[in-house]
Amino acid sequence: MSKRRTTLKDFSHKPGQLVELDRRQFLPLPPPYDKWDTEPEIKPLSEERQRQLECDLDGISAFKFPRPQSEEEKRRLVEQFLAGLKKLFERENNWTFQQALFLTMEYCARCQTCATACPIYAESGKMDIYRPTFRSDIVRRLYKKYVKAGGKFFAVVSGNDIDVTWTMVARLMELSYRCTLCRRCAQSCPIGVDNGLVTHELRKIFSQEMGVAVEALHTKGSVLQLEAGSSTGMTPAAFLDNVEFMEDEVKERTGLSFKWPMDKAGADILLIHNAGEYLAWPENPEAFAIILEAAGISYTLSSDIVAYDGVNYGVWYDDVQLAKVALKHMETARKLGVKKVVIGECGHAHKALTVIADRVLAGDLNIPRESSMTLLRDIITSGRIKVDPSRNDDITTTLHDPCNLVRLMGVVEPQREVLRAVSNHFREMTPHGVDNYCCGGGSGFAITQDLNFPDFREIVSGRAKLRQILNVFQDIIGPEHKKYVCAPCSNCKGAIRDMFAAYGLFERCNILYGGLVELVVNAMPEIERPFLEWDWH
Ligand code: SF4
Ligand code: SF4
Repeated sequence: MSKRRTTLKDFSHKPGQLVELDRRQFLPLPPPYDKWDTEPEIKPLSEERQRQLECDLDGISAFKFPRPQSEEEKRRLVEQFLAGLKKLFERENNWTFQQALFLTMEYCARCQTCATACPIYAESGKMDIYRPTFRSDIVRRLYKKYVKAGGKFFAVVSGNDIDVTWTMVARLMELSYRCTLCRRCAQSCPIGVDNGLVTHELRKIFSQEMGVAVEALHTKGSVLQLEAGSSTGMTPAAFLDNVEFMEDEVKERTGLSFKWPMDKAGADILLIHNAGEYLAWPENPEAFAIILEAAGISYTLSSDIVAYDGVNYGVWYDDVQLAKVALKHMETARKLGVKKVVIGECGHAHKALTVIADRVLAGDLNIPRESSMTLLRDIITSGRIKVDPSRNDDITTTLHDPCNLVRLMGVVEPQREVLRAVSNHFREMTPHGVDNYCCGGGSGFAITQDLNFPDFREIVSGRAKLRQILNVFQDIIGPEHKKYVCAPCSNCKGAIRDMFAAYGLFERCNILYGGLVELVVNAMPEIERPFLEWDWH
């Protein structure tokens, strides 16, 4: 099996697993993970799974798609794929990013600047199939052959022909899930080609035309959120119970006793958290409640179905699902009559509701939306709450930049202003800001826990971030120093948690991860006991 160069002919025709991931080819990590045997392994699927599921790209299965049982079924799936491809280029069927997609299909200087920028390609040891343009070249050839007038003839005479087989479509499906949509490639391209967008549009074909999506994103994500109220499965009644529990917990931890504002019509702000916070990291919404209460901010939470969960997984794979969830969020905001919606520490929720939803929200549903990063910055810099950074003096902090906040939205400085105000020992990773590396969990990777996909996330897609974290703390890497990776994004925290667990980073290096607001509350002088509990969760 080829480890590096892969031809399109092989991609369409070669039977069996196309490439094999070999960790000896991966970029090395700094101490204490500088020996290969200190790293976790990528586990192969069982022989039975390999027989059952499409995994002929690299031996990993994200989609868990069953192998078709007949040639007829394969033909039907290929036809569906091509029908979906054509719809991507029809204005009435694709209203989100069509112009950018057309430009990306028409132009590429083949300079490979984007390849240098892509962490998955670089970390894998430059495995050809993960090169940003590998995926795009396939889609570009398909577009030129099947969408453009006279395409089939020109494909042959230009030498850019491509065979569409089920083998190719199945591999392309999995390949659409080897990209975190971090858009580092798009930022680096000198002519504005967006290879991340190609990944996104491919996933739309599979979901919107073929009804195929990663379970964690669709059935256990968007569908569950729209039916139960949250992608966590938390119903409105359970949410209210959880809030009551968190009110009690705040009292126990801080001595502060107050009710969290709920369904309060006429409040200035509707605050929406990723519901994962309530279950996995309750200290985050608790810290928000403490800060907003102390600052005297007029805000409310909502117990309406969907509106207490800022998650919108459609942003990664399906415009229809994105629109359904975004409309629910904004219908609640309109009903409450708030002046704006503020999104908690969740990067993809920022992207979905502030940037992409602008293409869906019309009239009185287009209520202003704001990042919690700017709200927190305003609270701190205006002196509405008091903070004393020396209260965090036993911890060295660094900041992870969520891709959607920084590269997509340009929210770079507000979180730094907050962090500098509450920490005397803050260090930047290299690179940072809009040049950051993804946590490895972007585009749904963080929530995909099936089969051997987590191995790919922890060992390949999160590798650049892990190296940055180890490097920034390299001079104090021993467990005697307390170190904190501030990750103001629920999705990133999930990826970092799983990566830290796989490598044992808390136990070996005493590095903890968490949100931004927890550090803020830890620095508030009126709270006697440290708010940040230094334990692994
Ligand atoms: S950087 Fe842009 S022009 Fe260069 S190869 Fe990548 S997509 Fe093409
Ligand atoms: S979006 Fe990120 S992971 Fe995907 S191809 Fe571009 S640089 Fe690589």
